[in-house]
Amino acid sequence: RAIQVPFDLSEALESLILTMEPVIFEKNLSLDYRLEPGLTVTGSSEQMKQVAMILLDNAVKYAGSKGSIEVQLGRQKGHILLAVSNTGPGIPPEHLDKIFDRFYRVDASRSRQKGGYGLGLAIAKSIVEQHRGKIYARSTPNETTTFYVQLNG
Ligand code: ATP
Repeated sequence: RAIQVPFDLSEALESLILTMEPVIFEKNLSLDYRLEPGLTVTGSSEQMKQVAMILLDNAVKYAGSKGSIEVQLGRQKGHILLAVSNTGPGIPPEHLDKIFDRFYRVDASRSRQKGGYGLGLAIAKSIVEQHRGKIYARSTPNETTTFYVQLNG
């Protein structure tokens, strides 16, 4: 179990985004991010960076060509809310809960080309729950898919 200490989530996310920017631009995707500064949560900054990396990796994988990615961090209704959105085919509503299960992939043939095992979101969910947070997704097929991480802080 990782140590539980207060850390600056805004800073952790900014450094992760800076390391991922080259990959995003190399794929001709646009990236827009807005991080409210100084948001502190208790837990493991390495693990929360892993969560953000899983979501950003997926955004890159599923955004489609010339798509766009948006990352937002702010406060909402007494919680800290991280939202990672991407354009692309999206996720049909009946799959939205199951994608957090281990080895679950929406369209095996389409996803197989993307080379994943269906583990990323299950790992992300387990980390977020260890931080007493929630993770969920909303999707409008062929428009936008957004993953939300709600944390206390
Ligand atoms: P990996 O194990 O390498 O992360 P994966 O991407 O298949 O592979 P998950 O991250 O758990 O595994 O995602 C599960 C499934 O959810 C994916 O196979 C894909 O069908 C769907 N999915 C995840 N993120 C997105 C997204 N941003 N847009 C559309 N579909 C997505």
